[in-house]
Amino acid sequence: MNNLRFKALEKIAQQEYVAFSPKMNRLDSFAANVFDERKLQNYLSKPAFKEMMLAIKKGTQISRSLAEQIAQSMKLWALEKGATHYTHWFQPLTGATAEKHESFLDFAKDGRVISALDGSQLVQQEPDASSFPSGGIRNTFEARGYTAWDPTSPAFLFGKTLCIPTIFVSYTGEALDYKTPLLRSISAVDHASTEICKFFDKTVTKVIPTLGWEQEYFLVDRMLMASRPDLILTGRTLLGHSSAKGQQLDDHYFGSIPTRMLSFMNELEEECALLGIPVKTRHNEVAPSQFELAPIFEEANLSVDHNALLIDVMKRTAEKHNLEVLFHEKPFAGINGSGKHNNWSLATNTGVNLLSPGKTPMSNLQFLTFFVNTIAAVHQHQNLLCASMMSASNDHRLGANEAPPTIMSVFIGKQLTKVLNDLAQVSEGKLSPQEKTDLKLNVVGKIPEILLDNTDRNRTSPFAFTGNKFEFRAVGSKANCAKPMTVLNTIVANQLQAFKEKVDALMDKDAKMKKDDAIFNELRDLIKQIKPILFEGDGYSENWIKDAKKRGLNQASNTPEALKAYVSPESIALFTKQNVLGERELEARFSVDLEQFTLALQIEGRTLGDLARNHIIPTAINYLNTLIENVRGLKEIYGDEFKDKAKEQMLLIERISSHIAEINSGVNDMIEKRKNANLISDDLKKALAYCNDVKPCFETIRYHCDKLELLVDNSLWPLAKYRELLFAH
Ligand code: ADP
Ligand code: MG
Repeated sequence: MNNLRFKALEKIAQQEYVAFSPKMNRLDSFAANVFDERKLQNYLSKPAFKEMMLAIKKGTQISRSLAEQIAQSMKLWALEKGATHYTHWFQPLTGATAEKHESFLDFAKDGRVISALDGSQLVQQEPDASSFPSGGIRNTFEARGYTAWDPTSPAFLFGKTLCIPTIFVSYTGEALDYKTPLLRSISAVDHASTEICKFFDKTVTKVIPTLGWEQEYFLVDRMLMASRPDLILTGRTLLGHSSAKGQQLDDHYFGSIPTRMLSFMNELEEECALLGIPVKTRHNEVAPSQFELAPIFEEANLSVDHNALLIDVMKRTAEKHNLEVLFHEKPFAGINGSGKHNNWSLATNTGVNLLSPGKTPMSNLQFLTFFVNTIAAVHQHQNLLCASMMSASNDHRLGANEAPPTIMSVFIGKQLTKVLNDLAQVSEGKLSPQEKTDLKLNVVGKIPEILLDNTDRNRTSPFAFTGNKFEFRAVGSKANCAKPMTVLNTIVANQLQAFKEKVDALMDKDAKMKKDDAIFNELRDLIKQIKPILFEGDGYSENWIKDAKKRGLNQASNTPEALKAYVSPESIALFTKQNVLGERELEARFSVDLEQFTLALQIEGRTLGDLARNHIIPTAINYLNTLIENVRGLKEIYGDEFKDKAKEQMLLIERISSHIAEINSGVNDMIEKRKNANLISDDLKKALAYCNDVKPCFETIRYHCDKLELLVDNSLWPLAKYRELLFAH
């Protein structure tokens, strides 16, 4: 029998392993393949370089002639490094990155072959991108969208291709990608934060959100995976009995990294270094064959690009090691899934982290202002933040005793809770000099010390303050970080704006209130409002679900329902006010997300049906025939006494037959429900039908297939088993 599973196992057993040896000095080669500021300076004239820096830092317009100069320099640099092609590199709503390579080859007027990349090709391209999801935006007008250069993220050389980061928009100006709204949200939070900073430090002229993600993933043998159509097509195992040994011994977590995986990581890190991705941390995660990689944080836009690029680099590097990377949030049932913690903060152009307390009472009050306003934003827009990270794949991980539930709460630790409680006592109106001094010295002034030994950690919170940043932990490993980051930047921008308006109003002549009095007053009111979302307990417990309900917090029941938050009147007003997404763009995103959800379940359903019918049932029948043959033989030998001798076999025959029957009826049932769901034209209702009717069928089918896995002869089983996928390497 042509059993891929055994071939793969044999190959793994025979593999003579040559570890990847480091080829370069990563520090010297860092960003060697990035057309960064240093290279710009080398290639551009002085005035052109100055103009370009202004465009990057201040967002000023890039002139035609400057674009020509940059295109020319980029081309020369790339050709010197052996590039053959260039591409606009963008992040459509599929979740993957997209590229369409163009050769540098061109003809001059006299027919000579020349290399080409001119200013207009750098600035704008028109990929025939009508197959990307657009939520109907392009269909209504024209099928085309265009990509436009994002000068704030440097071009890079990937293989022999010069990649130019771009946004992707329709001709009517609507965003068709993740990056456009991200950039708009970065600008919104910049403006709102800079205004607030002026209360404390007039030299601040720009505030940039920062992001440091932590990418979790699984590595599996490529050939073993080839025996699993479910992993190949859906990224997760739809079947598979749990391994006798799973993660119960906790012996993988932070353990020594297996040689083959380490070899992959070393090569990956060299690639990352060349591409300027500042990879810092690597370690084993909780589940067997699960790992984490984290970089040093960067400006959010660059960090988002780096994560999207990393995913591509990881896949390609893994191929060289005969490995496959699983980015799905829950590739295996019964053991931990993968997340992508998004660590977020705000940094000023003066080098201050706004979520880190400073040395003076004023800078600590500034910290508190950003701290409390961020929590207030999360409180007010909890549904939206929740929607920003929910998906068909993340659904399997959330709330499964290993990841936060779909209730937003914020963890801040005991000491900061006390600070907020003290601040909640501030008197109404103008503060007495005594109270103000007391607050500054004994409450605000103590914050730096408090945070120094803030070792308080709560791993079960979806949104936790971790000393100098907030960590959004509910985000899934497959997600494009731009999605949650866009929402976070936007809601914080909106909250900061509202805060500023209130403080300004209090300081208005009539009220005669001083700035810090006004800020203390506003903070006090906010602290009272945000109480329900502050939670220090176990976010994975049953009690929390009840408690959260009492507090008036929302729990998303499923992804399609949660996604509705994108198109609620409050969200539309919020996104429109902050110039991040318009109503049509939000409607489009809602529809794309619903469609992605439905398609994911549709593909899973089809794959599971095929697997059950074409792999599992035939294998079981095969074994059944062997058993029947055996019983027949016993009858020949023992005559009438055979029944006694064949008791166990008969029982097995019955059990296997009954599982086969259950699988068959389960698949029929699922197909029926899929057919009904497919008839629904409304996006939301269809997604809900897939969620509530089709998805539950998976469990029944799986249950019986997994039972068969335990009963059927191991040598016949066609799919790599959990123990092999997780432990054989
Ligand atoms: P852990 O959360 O596992 O304890 P760390 O706290 O060391 O790990 O950091 C996790 C991530 O947070 C890293 O990617 C790091 O770069 C990032 N990070 C640290 N400071 C900031 C910041 N000011 N803004 C954004 N991300 C940050
Ligand atoms: Mg973390």
